[in-house]
Amino acid sequence: LMQLFRPLDALGWVYRSIKQGLVDMEEMFRLIDTETEIEDAPDARPLQVTRGEISFEDVVFSYSEERQILHGVSFAVPAGATVAVVGDSGAGKSTLGRILYRFYEIDSGRVKIDGQDISNVTQDSLRRAIGIVPQDTVLFNDTVGYNIAYGREGATQEEVEAAARAAQIHEFISSLPAGYETLVGERGLKLSGGEKQRVAIARTILKDPPILLLDEATSALDSRTEDAIQTSLREVERGRTTLVIAHRLSTITDADEILVMRGGRIAERGTHGELLARDGHYAEMWARQQAEERTRQSGD
Ligand code: ATP
Repeated sequence: LMQLFRPLDALGWVYRSIKQGLVDMEEMFRLIDTETEIEDAPDARPLQVTRGEISFEDVVFSYSEERQILHGVSFAVPAGATVAVVGDSGAGKSTLGRILYRFYEIDSGRVKIDGQDISNVTQDSLRRAIGIVPQDTVLFNDTVGYNIAYGREGATQEEVEAAARAAQIHEFISSLPAGYETLVGERGLKLSGGEKQRVAIARTILKDPPILLLDEATSALDSRTEDAIQTSLREVERGRTTLVIAHRLSTITDADEILVMRGGRIAERGTHGELLARDGHYAEMWARQQAEERTRQSGD
């Protein structure tokens, strides 16, 4: 019975916290994780990131006994490369990210970073190595400067500003009367989805993790905001191993490899060009999104 209640408890906590605007996703993962009681192995060692290569080897996973979600997923993200995961809603894309962060234990298979099974390393060292830019960032009720500086303890104001510049949000912050001292969140200035995402990107640039997990926003942003975000994302991806969970195919056409998930399996894989030439599910999704894009533009 406890098995059933623990996630519910966690959910209640998350709901209350989000309502109070108190947490961001990373913090949330950390806290929920305590509740779901994934424990470090007795002989767990700190993860030693040398190059930052990720590999999933025949990963089988279910959230509950009744239903298997991933049916043997294998792929690798070479050091410094970008791999994008696409697919219909419910295909299992976000689940891959949660498994990499070890939010859940897998049923069988292996997930490794630089050859080390993530179930044998300390969770703390794993999470320090991975930066997350979530779909929806919930900010702390504090200053915008604090919200960025949170990425790294002891960061100086110069470092905070450099990160904000790289994330294309410095100008906006500087234009506010109180600048970096502006209060944000529920009790302060409400930032737009795109601004919040850029704050999250700045925070991640400051954290400087070797591995990145990007969960792209589903909602369409206006094209100027979208461009600014894409520019800052390219900046944060540079030199890091990146796994992107993408909803809009137009943002991931340069990925080193694209995995097309269907029903918990990788149905197709390759570069954008290879997948178009294959004329399968990806090509169909691409054609559909391009048509939607044209309709939206002609409606503008
Ligand atoms: P979307 O594009 O809609 O975000 P996705 O491909 O990221 O979808 P996942 O979130 O990985 O899909 O979900 C895969 C499957 O796992 C879905 O069928 C979903 O209902 C199920 N699922 C997701 N989270 C949980 C959970 N916490 N408990 C039980 N089942 C879950």
